[in-house]
Amino acid sequence: MTATFVGMPPFPSAAREALGNSQLRANLAHATGTIRAKRAGVVAELDDWEELRLAGAAIKDETLRHLDEHLLTLEASLQARGATVHWARDAAEACEVVAAIARGHGVDEVVKVKSMATQEIGLNEALAAEGIAAWETDLAELIVQLGDDLPSHILVPAIHRNRAEIREIFRSRMGAVGRPAPEGLTDEPAALAGAARAHLREKFLRAKVAVSGANFAVAETGTLVVVESEGNGRMCLTLPEVLISVVGIEKVLPTWRDLEVFLQLLPRSSTGERMNPYTSTWSGVTEGDGPQETHVVLLDNGRTRALADEVGRQALRCIRCSACLNVCPVYERTGGHAYGSVYPGPIGAILNPLLKGVGVDEQTDSLPYASSLCGACFEVCPVRIDIPEVLVHLRAQVVDAHRGGTPTGQDRAMRAASWVLAGARRTDLAERAAGLVGGVAGWVGRRRLPGGRKAIGRLPWPGSAWTDARDLPAPPAESFRAWWRRTDGGRAPEGSAR
Ligand code: SF4
Repeated sequence: MTATFVGMPPFPSAAREALGNSQLRANLAHATGTIRAKRAGVVAELDDWEELRLAGAAIKDETLRHLDEHLLTLEASLQARGATVHWARDAAEACEVVAAIARGHGVDEVVKVKSMATQEIGLNEALAAEGIAAWETDLAELIVQLGDDLPSHILVPAIHRNRAEIREIFRSRMGAVGRPAPEGLTDEPAALAGAARAHLREKFLRAKVAVSGANFAVAETGTLVVVESEGNGRMCLTLPEVLISVVGIEKVLPTWRDLEVFLQLLPRSSTGERMNPYTSTWSGVTEGDGPQETHVVLLDNGRTRALADEVGRQALRCIRCSACLNVCPVYERTGGHAYGSVYPGPIGAILNPLLKGVGVDEQTDSLPYASSLCGACFEVCPVRIDIPEVLVHLRAQVVDAHRGGTPTGQDRAMRAASWVLAGARRTDLAERAAGLVGGVAGWVGRRRLPGGRKAIGRLPWPGSAWTDARDLPAPPAESFRAWWRRTDGGRAPEGSAR
């Protein structure tokens, strides 16, 4: 697989190209509409859904507040149960840990259960550079990998593909990397799933090393949790001799009891199910049962940077359910590739800049603008991440990061306004001047241009581009402060002399 998000153009260019693909838009509208309806149905069944959301947000916030302590508890619990714990500051360190373990076992392939963290660090590419093939076993990930494609959705990475396209990918690519697709493969879902099952089963039974992520990591018991729908995760977690789990440090939960809240929030928000078909939990090594060597790589890769941002840190509550993608009008039209990251959609628009930092590259800086700020993402988020609030906060950071150089007309106007408004006397004089202008503008405004448009909306002033689409209200002939002085705060009779 050679496809990569590295070097993707900024969101506006990528989105423009995606909007020209009518097949993509049709696929996305159908898929997101279906998942949206399923989610809405199962969420409406619970009377205490809002209380669950509040509980989920509160548990995550409390955990993040004492993250250092919970991580040390998790490390100790994992070690007590026979797991080896590794700490990785960034993608390079995490990839090297995984590659070293695979090398140490002399393998040239690993099987993987879908993991956003391993995609974030580019693990497949790093292993390929060492001559180790990483086989994706989630159906949608398999489609993406065989098609030399990129994931475009958190939960359904091949959401941009339809059945006919998937059949073609299976027919043309499966044979090159393992068991080929059966003769006469149709695009019926059951036939496609059967072809994937037969292809993957060989890899499950052969692989000595598996790589996973984790949805949650329980500090109290040293337990990792993976929730999934296809059973491929259960195969990866139980069949190989060695299991390596790459886990973002924000995945920690203090106690086993906390899972009660998240195992209700996650399946309903993600696949629109009351309960996901497979919930796998494991704690270290159990003699004679499952992998006899387990490693956990605790990954930072920008998470402590996000944690230091008082507004942005709420993004670390994210449980990767993808509900915000499915309701986003921008995502539904552009698809995930336009975001240039494994984290697309509204959560990607805030998480990528928080993890990487703003002012680093043009593509990342473009993401906080990939939103209409409609707020639909906040309404569905099971852990109540106020994505619009973080988007606005990040936009301010992007603007600050690009200050300097030759000031634009807007910069000069803002500096002048700041100087005027910083002094009471200057503000007073400006208001009087504005009153005079308002009198003239009121006279001009009563005259109509052809088409009925107000003349004031077209006055050639420094913000005239702004008024191309809006009318500029004429300043009042008398300011509030002048009115206050004239009427003694409204106590003097109206019509008093100015
Ligand atoms: S931000 Fe909220 S809705 Fe979006 S993926 Fe994360 S948890 Fe789900």
